[in-house]
Amino acid sequence: MAATRNVDGLRSMVAGGVMTPGDPGYDTARALWNGSFDRRPAVITCCRSAADVAAAVGFAEANGLEISVRGGAHSFSGASAGDGGLMIHLGSMSTVQVDPEGRRARVGGGATWGDVDAATQEHGLAVTGGVLSDTGVGGLTLGGGMGWLANRHGLSIDNLVSAEVVLADGRVVRASESDEPDLFWALRGGGGNFGVVTAFEYRLHQVGPEVQFGLLFWEVERGVDGLRACREAARTLPSDYGMLIGGGLSAPEAPFVPEEHHGKIGHALLVAGYGSADEHAHAIDAVREMCPPLFEFLTPMPYTAMQQLFDPELQPGTWMYDKGLYLAELTDDAITVMTERAPGKTDPLSFMPMFALHGAVSEVGDDATAYGGLRTPNFVVDVSGASNDPDRFVADREWARSTWDALRPLAGNAGSYVNFISELEDDERVRASYGPAKYGRLAQIKAEYDPGNLFHRNANIKPV
Ligand code: FAD
Repeated sequence: MAATRNVDGLRSMVAGGVMTPGDPGYDTARALWNGSFDRRPAVITCCRSAADVAAAVGFAEANGLEISVRGGAHSFSGASAGDGGLMIHLGSMSTVQVDPEGRRARVGGGATWGDVDAATQEHGLAVTGGVLSDTGVGGLTLGGGMGWLANRHGLSIDNLVSAEVVLADGRVVRASESDEPDLFWALRGGGGNFGVVTAFEYRLHQVGPEVQFGLLFWEVERGVDGLRACREAARTLPSDYGMLIGGGLSAPEAPFVPEEHHGKIGHALLVAGYGSADEHAHAIDAVREMCPPLFEFLTPMPYTAMQQLFDPELQPGTWMYDKGLYLAELTDDAITVMTERAPGKTDPLSFMPMFALHGAVSEVGDDATAYGGLRTPNFVVDVSGASNDPDRFVADREWARSTWDALRPLAGNAGSYVNFISELEDDERVRASYGPAKYGRLAQIKAEYDPGNLFHRNANIKPV
């Protein structure tokens, strides 16, 4: 194979090291977060710098190897590892440099949100990231990036100031509002299509260190009323509250869940508040009055603890299949579908998380970034079939697909948050996710920066 013949030359060019099958560390490096993928790249380049990445890109092109880019390895489609190709492994590029006075962070392209939160919270600062600490900054940001801070400070991309990018031709450029502005626009929502980002520069905000967390849970028998209360909460709670609705959630065996309710299926409202404990309790009173929950859990906690709250439940190696949708409204019809479908899952890990986005997300213009989602208040739905047992995973993957089919007529189109797409070759859904105008502009920018579509293991935009 060409790759293994020439790989010695590559070794001398990549400071972080190069692995091929059989090398120590190869199996760890190729492993993805999602246990349903078992892919074997021919070459893994462990990059430490933009120069390492440029060498890897050049080598892959010269040897006809398909490139995969691995940030935090969380992609639902397993995009970050391909059989027989070249993996650009960014795990060593995880440094986070914080400028507390300027409220900026420069973050390595392979960092996780845990790395970012730890470094920024030392100064009482933060930027919108995901709700799990081991998700990668790279993939999450490039698709949009939503989490507890989105309604307060916008999506991750809304806080991106600049990016250092290795392009398909090996050049290293800075993209910002003033440098390579088209590329900068495309990076903010267009995914990994345009190059390898070796550093992200974010605007930071004062957050915490203590925040207010709340969880209210309604059993599925009262699920319709519970979800109606969630819908009302999205309209009436302070607009900067972070809000995640756990449709069809199984009550975890956690200390804050009364033992008799462990494993019960229902809907949950999870909120993050940024005021005092009293303000939080008062805001939650209004939701409680709409529909008294079966149980609830309200507590102040450090921001970094909230960012790790789901880590114990969702461990690397989980088998997971996800299918997303945007709902402009959480209508009674959607509520009925979710409530009827919830008991059909077989594994406690499967559920339908929904981000309720509004506030700062809606203050950014639709055309300001390439993000394919709605900027008007909306619900970003993810139907997730997940298990640690491969047989149950197959059953719940079907549950996720059929639940999505039932919800699909209630959404404007088949489009989804591109980070919630599990099928790599789903061209139709990628186009639907951006809509013709944005897709057209992205395809032109793709033609300028990656005309040969070297970076295609992603929610792929075909160059014009
Ligand atoms: P990878 O698998 O490493 O990368 C995915 C793709 O992103 C790559 O194939 C590549 O195309 C691109 N990419 C990654 N890094 C770079 C880079 N530095 N330069 C160029 N391209 C790059 N999303 C949210 O918005 N909010 C959440 O709270 C959230 N929670 C999640 C929880 C779990 C358990 C999982 C599995 C996913 C979650 N997601 C969430 C979805 C997440 O945004 C996507 O899975 C995203 O792709 C993860 O990025 P990654 O770097 O970890 O993934």
